[in-house]
Amino acid sequence: MPTTQLQMARNGTVTPEMRRIAERENRDPEFVREQVADGQAVIPANTSHETLDPMIIGREFSTKVNANIGNSETTSDIEEELEKLHTAVHHGADTVMDLGTGSDLDRIREANVEHSPVPIGTVPLYEAVKRAGSPEDLTTELLLEVIEKQAEQGVDYMTIHAGVLAEHLPLTEGRKTGIVSRGGSIMAKWMEAHGEQNPLFQVYDEICAIFLEHDVTFSLGDSLRPGSIADACDEAQYAELDTLGELTRRAWDRGVQVMVEGPGHVPMDKIAENVERQQEVCDGAPFYVLGPLVTDIAPGYDHITSAIGAAMAAKEGAAMLCYVTPKEHLGLPDEADVRDGLAAYRIAAHAGDVGNDRPGARDWDDALSEARYAFDWREQFSLALDPERAQSAHDQTLPEDNYKEARFCSMCGVDFCSMRIDQDAREDGEMKDLERNTDLESSPAAEVNLPPVGTHDADAVERFEADAESVTATDGGESDSHRTDSSVGSRDRTPSED
Ligand code: SF4
Repeated sequence: MPTTQLQMARNGTVTPEMRRIAERENRDPEFVREQVADGQAVIPANTSHETLDPMIIGREFSTKVNANIGNSETTSDIEEELEKLHTAVHHGADTVMDLGTGSDLDRIREANVEHSPVPIGTVPLYEAVKRAGSPEDLTTELLLEVIEKQAEQGVDYMTIHAGVLAEHLPLTEGRKTGIVSRGGSIMAKWMEAHGEQNPLFQVYDEICAIFLEHDVTFSLGDSLRPGSIADACDEAQYAELDTLGELTRRAWDRGVQVMVEGPGHVPMDKIAENVERQQEVCDGAPFYVLGPLVTDIAPGYDHITSAIGAAMAAKEGAAMLCYVTPKEHLGLPDEADVRDGLAAYRIAAHAGDVGNDRPGARDWDDALSEARYAFDWREQFSLALDPERAQSAHDQTLPEDNYKEARFCSMCGVDFCSMRIDQDAREDGEMKDLERNTDLESSPAAEVNLPPVGTHDADAVERFEADAESVTATDGGESDSHRTDSSVGSRDRTPSED
């Protein structure tokens, strides 16, 4: 009797989950089924997670974003944890990982599953270590017990650090930042203490049997992901990736869904290589990346350093992006950090979708641009990725209601609002006249190699011509009087400033 979405897809069944996903993704249900059957996409949907609105993770679908929540030793309140879940979903997380390591983990996890419309992921190793007391005291029995309990609780996907093997550990010796994955460092410590192979690798088939029963999706952990630009794409990272490829096929053979986790810290010139290699080694299993951060130099801004890498990874085919907040490397994120991290990652994901021409992705950009050009401020706010942030930025300087109809904002001001000037020119037919009459080659702009600034703003042209004359009279270069302080707008720049 098939229980997993993968098994049902292979049997030719389009499940209700696949139908719902087809609706959400503007796709044919049969296409969804094929992608799942081929292991190219996963539907993390534990059979016990009743409040779930099904979603899909795969490179042919819209790029998804995960947010991490969870308590620590010092904060362990169930209401607080549910509030974090709410914040993450409210700001657009497609999945949420509960990485709690504090107390009351069971009740918090159950409450999260019970209330969450998005898939819940966990790292069962954390709870197992907490119960064991130390990494060295872990046993395979305890690991299986925790995994089975979490599967019964309705967890939709679990990070399993089974790919780091004893023989990989010496490969990390020359690294600048060693092993930075929490799960990876725990597994390494256990292997060194016991002189045995990774316990999660040892019981991998038993884990598959549990996942099969509850339709839990593997998120195969990248224990040896690089923690610095210097360590990116090294032998250790790629040796583990080869094992992850083998584990992917072993899970598929048993009817279990799989996605594979990826780095970490990777310079821009190696991001495509990372995605291509994972797709090749893991036969197209969805790639779920953390960032990657494209530089190490900006603690406090790592939601930005990593969103750059995440956008590039999404364009190359990564299926899900695990968000990074401004607190990365520095501390536990608060609500504002969660919001900033999610915004950065939803931008990265959407940019990837636009670049990959995913169905419907560009429609959002077009709708917002139309509202912007129409000076429909309320529509622009409501279409914004973060409507509250957009409106509050606008209202900071022009809060009164009448400015919601205004044909300008405080950035360029009423006289120099380029969109207003442009629209007036179009309405007055000046653009058509310009097309017929403008001779760019003989214009003053050509003499100083500048675009014809504000060509449909008579005053601006007059000022520009006066400026240009004074420039050419003083040997036509970059006199200070011609620099940007004449406020003709952003196009009023000397060539050297471009
Ligand atoms: S004033 Fe400038 S920024 Fe504001 S709407 Fe007009 S063109 Fe856009």
